[in-house]
Amino acid sequence: MSVASPNTATVVPHWIDGAQSPSRSGRTAPVYDPALGVVTKQVAMADRAEIDAAVASARAAFPAWRDTSLAKRQTVLFKFRELLDARKGELAEIITSEHGKVLSDAMGEITRGLEVVEFATGLAHHLKGEYSEGVSTGIDVYSTRQPLGVVGIISPFNFPAMVPMWFFPIAIAAGNTVVVKPSEKDPSAAIWMGQLWKEAGLPDGVFTVLNGDKEAVDGLLEHPDVQAISFVGSTPIAQYVYEQGAKYGKRVQALGGAKNHMLVLPDADLDLTADAAVNAGFGSAGERCMAISVVVAVEPVADALIEKIKERVATLRTGDGRRGCDMGPLVTEAHRDKVASYIEVAEADGAVIAIDGRGIEVDGEPEGFWLGPTLIDQVPVTSRVYTEEIFGPVLSVVRVGSYEEGVDLINNGAFGNGTAIFTNDGGAARRFQNEIQVGMVGINVPIPVPVATFSFGGWKASMFGDTKAHGAEGVKFYTQLKAVTSRWLDPSHGGLNLGFPQN
Ligand code: NAD
Repeated sequence: MSVASPNTATVVPHWIDGAQSPSRSGRTAPVYDPALGVVTKQVAMADRAEIDAAVASARAAFPAWRDTSLAKRQTVLFKFRELLDARKGELAEIITSEHGKVLSDAMGEITRGLEVVEFATGLAHHLKGEYSEGVSTGIDVYSTRQPLGVVGIISPFNFPAMVPMWFFPIAIAAGNTVVVKPSEKDPSAAIWMGQLWKEAGLPDGVFTVLNGDKEAVDGLLEHPDVQAISFVGSTPIAQYVYEQGAKYGKRVQALGGAKNHMLVLPDADLDLTADAAVNAGFGSAGERCMAISVVVAVEPVADALIEKIKERVATLRTGDGRRGCDMGPLVTEAHRDKVASYIEVAEADGAVIAIDGRGIEVDGEPEGFWLGPTLIDQVPVTSRVYTEEIFGPVLSVVRVGSYEEGVDLINNGAFGNGTAIFTNDGGAARRFQNEIQVGMVGINVPIPVPVATFSFGGWKASMFGDTKAHGAEGVKFYTQLKAVTSRWLDPSHGGLNLGFPQN
C-alpha cells in the first residue's frame, strides 16, 4: 500500500459540540508516522479556555441525554456499533499510521473495543434497580442507578481506540456525557470516532474530544463540572491523577503500568508456551500493558524453551505495519532509544543477550523507529531490566528452581496487572490462580484480557482506585445509587412521632 505524502501543517483539532473545533491556543505537538520516522501532522494542545468550552458543551448536553429514554440511548449505541463494524478498516489505518502497530493488530484492538460497545447496547439489564415491598408498614424501598454528569477519559498512546472504548460506551449508555483526552502521540482515532457518533445520531456535546497534554489533564482534574475520571497510562501519572482527582472530589479509576510474568512449569507444552511467549512478548512491539515481559522458567525448562523462542523469532518480519509484517516500529524515536538502552543495561548487569534486536533489517523506511525482538536470558532480578517497565519488544528470562520460587518472585514485584502460568498440571494451575497477587490471570493463556462482560484492571501499582474498567464494575463507576423510601398514604395517618424512623 502506498502512503500519501503528509501535509505536516495539518493540525488535529478538538471535537466539541458535535464538530471539529480548531485550536486557538497557538500550542501544538508533532504527530509522527513511526514506520516512516517523519512528522505527518500536528495536534492541538488545549488551553484553559478550550478545556472550559469542552466541559461546558458536555455539561449543557447532560440533562437532555440523561432524560433520553434508555431504549433511545441504546438505539444510538446499536447504530454506532454497526457503523464502526462496517468501517473499522478506516480506523485501523489511522491507528497504524500514528501508532505503528501492524494493521491486523489495529483491527484486533478495534474488535476488543467493539465488545464493550456491544455490552453497552444491553445496559438496560445492568441499570435495573432493586425493590423491596413492605419493608415497614405501607413503606416500599427501591434503588435506582443514575448517571454522574460529565466524565473525563484520559487515555495512553498504545490503544488509541480500544482504551477509550473500555469506558465511553458504558458511560454514554448510562446517560453521562464524556470528554475524551487522547494521547497526543496518536490523537486522530478519537476524532474519527467523534464523527462516527455524529453519524450514529448521538446528540452534540455527549461525546467530546479534547486534545492536549498535562495542561488538559490538569484542567479536567480541577474542573468543578467534571464528576469522574477514568485514566489509563503509566504508573507515576496514574498515581498523580488518582491523588489530584481525589483532592478535587472526583470519583477516579486510574490504571497504571505493568511488568507481566509468565511462569513456565517443566511439564508445560513447550511449543504452545514458546508460541505464547513470542506472541505476547513481541505483539504490538511489546507496547501493550498486558504484554509478557518476563518469562519465569522453572528449571530444567529454560534452555529448551529459549531454543524454541529463538526458532520462532527468526521467522518474524519486522517492518511497516501496512506491508503485512508481524511487528511494527516503536511509537517515537525517544521511546525506541529508551527501550534499546535497556539492552546495554542488561549487558552491564551480566545478563545474556540471546537475541539482539538492535540493527535489525526491516521491511520499511530506514528512518522508522525500529527495534527488533530482543530476548535477554539470566536477567538478575536486581537489574533495572527486571524491575522497570520497558514497554518494548524486550523479553527477559529469569530462571528459578521451583514453582514456589517463581510465585514469590511474581508476588514480590511492584506491579500486578497480568500474569500467566503455562502447565499441564491442573492442581498447580488452581493453586497459582489462588496464590498469585495479580489482578488478571491466564492459565495457558498469555494475555488474559477479560472479555467485556467481565472487568479489566490490575492490582498494586498497576491500578489506583477500587472500581475496574467495563463489565459490572464499569456500570457501577459511571452511575450513582439512589435509594427511595416511599409511602402512599392509606386512610390511617400515623400522626406525629419525632423518634428515628424504625420498623
Ligand atoms: P503516559 O502516562 O505517558 O500518558 C497517559 C496519558 O497521560 C496521556 O493522555 C498523556 O497525555 C497524559 N500525561 C502524560 N504525562 C502527564 C503528566 N505529567 N500529567 C498529566 N497527564 C499526563 O502513558 P503512555 O506512554 O501514553 O502509555 C503507556 C503506559 O500506559 C504504560 O505504562 C502502560 O503499561 C500503560 N497502560 C496501562 C494499561 C492498563 O490497563 N493498566 C493499559 C494501557 C497502557
